Order: sequence, then C-alpha cells, then structure tokens
Amino acid sequence: MIYRGRFAPSPTGPLHFGSLVSALASWLDARAHRGVWLVRIEDIDGPRTVPGAAEDILATLEGFGMRADEPPVWQSRRLARYEQALEQLESAGAIYPCGCTRKEIADSLLHAHARNTTLAYPGTCRDGLHGKPARAWRLRVPDGDAAVITFEDRWQGTQTQNLATEVGDFVLERADGQWAYQLAVVVDDADAGITHIVRGADLMDSTARQIYLQRRLGVPTPEYLHVPVVTNEQGDKLSKQTGATALDTDRPLEALSAATRHLGLDLPPGTAQKTLEGFYAAATAAWAARMGVRV
Ligand code: GLU
Repeated sequence: MIYRGRFAPSPTGPLHFGSLVSALASWLDARAHRGVWLVRIEDIDGPRTVPGAAEDILATLEGFGMRADEPPVWQSRRLARYEQALEQLESAGAIYPCGCTRKEIADSLLHAHARNTTLAYPGTCRDGLHGKPARAWRLRVPDGDAAVITFEDRWQGTQTQNLATEVGDFVLERADGQWAYQLAVVVDDADAGITHIVRGADLMDSTARQIYLQRRLGVPTPEYLHVPVVTNEQGDKLSKQTGATALDTDRPLEALSAATRHLGLDLPPGTAQKTLEGFYAAATAAWAARMGVRV
C-alpha cells in the first residue's frame, strides 16, 4: 500500500505537549505502515502566525528524531493554488459571495437560538447579495439527506454530521481576503497525495466539511484518525492561550514517553531510557498492535 501521512502545525508558538502528541501519532502511524511522513506549515492565518515559530517547530521535531521524508510545504507559498480551487468551485456553481457582516450573522443566530432552531449560517446570501457588497465566499451545502456526512474514524468510530443543520454554507475565502483553513487543508492534502490523516480530536468537527469539499473538488477522501486532545487541569485544550509551555528539547525521551502514555501505548519497561531509535522502534510496534496495523 502507498501510505502518505502528514503533521500540519500552525506556527502560533513553539511545539508544546499537545502538538507533540499529534506529531508523534502521525509519525508512528506512518512508520507502522512503512509509509511516507510529511510536514506542512499552516502559516496563512496572518494575525495568528508568530515569526520564527515555524523554524522553531521544525528544529524541535528534528531534535526529537522526527524528520520529514520530503521538504516541508508552506501554505503561504501556495496561495495561487487556493485561488485555482476557488475558481474551479465557482465554475461549478458551488460557491457564492456573501455580504453578511459578523454582526448580522451573530444577530440572526441569536434569534435562531431564541427560537431553538439551528445555529448554522442561515443562508442569507444564497440567492443574492441584497445590495450589499461581497465580503466572503461560501460553499453551498446540500439540503436533506445529502447534507449528512458519515465517516469511519480509526480511533473514535463512526462519525456523522449534518452539514445543513449543524454547519450551514461555510466560508472558503474570508472577508479579510484570507483563505479559510477548510479550503487550504483539502487542497494541500490532495496535492500532496495524503492517504491518511492523523490529528487531534479538536479537528473532528471540521472533517465532514473537508470530506464534502473533497467531493466537490473531485479529489479522494483520506482515512481519518483523531487522537484524544491533551487538556490542562481546567479541562481546556492545551494551547499557547491555555498556558502550554514549550517542550524541553534537551530531554526528548521524557516528553515522548509521556506522549505515548497519553496515546495509551504499552511500552516495554526501560524504553524511555533507550536511544531515540530504540524508543521509536518500541513505540511503532506498540502503535501497530493497538491500532491493528498490519503491513
Ligand atoms: N494546523 C492545524 C492545527 O494546528 C491542523 C490541521 C490538520 O491537521 O488538519 O490545529
């Protein structure tokens, strides 16, 4: 089998324990399948991108013994591809310009909430801009049964989302001219020939949107596996905002062993005292056993 996996960090700060867990899970799955592992820097969210963070993440991964099999892909260098994909969707009549401001959407959702109906974008601009200037581009999601997307998650089991009632027509190009994560991730994974996506469960909610977008663009749907997110003592997802600290790059084996425990892997005693190579050999075998990977 041809296996191509990836780790796709957003360079909003140094690698922390939560992102190490995602990196390690994607690495182990690729190794267990004797596949290729790639890194993509998701640096198109201007305000959130921290200068130097991408280089720092790449150096930390390397220091931890996870080296990508091909040069890293930078989203900021691929803007023309996102434009092409948007044009393809426009020719197919799959998208429409939206003139709603954040406030207008929030107000209509507030009313919907009061009426106890859907919190999805209400489709105000579906049939025209009503004299408002175009701000963003939205992908039209289907109604009825076609709106229900179901996929099998290798860790979490069967997942179902109704795009019409739970999401609504979603943004591909934002009002500030930035490309939405949903579009960039689908175009990039397709162009890189990614067959298996392993990432944190905080992204589970985006997967149905991405699968629908893959279908509209005519690209294959990869296999998905979402690992449990790491939370702090208050139960918030670990991130720079919730106080995650940078990893101690002098002691990679300590952090890596803690990450394998988070993933529920049983490693032979003494594995954490081994070399990085010894650690990865044991961890890959444990992952293959837990996930039922056979090559
Ligand atoms: N860049 C995203 C993040 O760091 C991950 C995207 C993905 O794995 O699909 O949350």
